[in-house]
Amino acid sequence: YADTAMYKAKESGRNTFEFYAAEMTSHALARMILKTSLKQAIEKDEFVVYYQPQIDIVKNKIIGLEALVRWKNPEKGFILPGAFLSLAVETGMVVEIDKLVIEKALSQVSQWSKKGILTGTVALNLTTKQLEYQDFVEELSTTIKRYDIDPANLVLELSEAHMMKGLEYTTEKVKELNALGVHVSIDDFGTGCSSLSFLTRLSIHQLKIDQAFVSDIPEKKESIEIIKAIIALAKSLHIDMIAEGVETLEQKEFLLALGCEKMQGNYFGEPLPAQEVEILLNKYL
Ligand code: C2E
Ligand code: MG
Ligand code: MG
Ligand code: MG
Repeated sequence: YADTAMYKAKESGRNTFEFYAAEMTSHALARMILKTSLKQAIEKDEFVVYYQPQIDIVKNKIIGLEALVRWKNPEKGFILPGAFLSLAVETGMVVEIDKLVIEKALSQVSQWSKKGILTGTVALNLTTKQLEYQDFVEELSTTIKRYDIDPANLVLELSEAHMMKGLEYTTEKVKELNALGVHVSIDDFGTGCSSLSFLTRLSIHQLKIDQAFVSDIPEKKESIEIIKAIIALAKSLHIDMIAEGVETLEQKEFLLALGCEKMQGNYFGEPLPAQEVEILLNKYL
């Protein structure tokens, strides 16, 4: 569509403002189309959950899995969250999507627990939209009970940048989640300008070192200094920490030398469908 608009604009020799307007229109149109198909995807439940292993390097064990949503559209194929999540957040549709993800993941957790192959945690990603949604904590509690899951096996990941936007509200909700017995992890830590005092005010279980810093290892000195600071902060506050986006042996060794023992990333394993990750769980048991 953008190409057609550009062609027409050039052909008719319109000024740049009009060209800009035409481009905007095609962008708006693309969003409208995406919005419509996302709505249908929710109705038809076209979402699947993939799981990425989290490793304790010292114990050489899988200590958890992160649940990551994928959209499987019959026409468009396999779609990663980067292509639809921001629109889902803007429109509020993410609340419905995450309800589906929670349902699937918790059902999976209960199956794995029954088989005795899940020894660690399962982490779910949420946006603050979920926390703003009135019945969220109660519904989560009901789902946890329905699947007879130990809440301590669940981790809820909230991105730091998101959390900082509505700190008062987030604080309240994190307390409610703590009361349920689920753990809260701060995702993409280091990018969201935390008011660090909230780390001590709330029961935060874990900090996830953002992959942007990890991918800078070993070249970028500043990023390494930030990683060191996060590790020191987590250690002194007795908060668990994990590095995400570890892609190379060099990054793994570097992080380990800095004192970070838990890692996640394609070096250890990409996100996999449930059946495939189950093979890994059995192997590491
Ligand atoms: P995140 O929570 O920070 O998740 C990490 C992302 O990095 C995932 O992308 C994962 O596939 C990717 N990743 C893992 N290891 C590596 C690596 O070694 N190298 C690189 N380059 N990337 C790696 P994904 O699955 O595309 O998800 C992107 C983001 O979308 C997530 O970032 C999370 O914020 C959000 N998201 C994913 N699933 C859900 C969900 O079910 N609900 C909500 N609300 N958000 C989700
Ligand atoms: Mg995450
Ligand atoms: Mg992250
Ligand atoms: Mg990230």
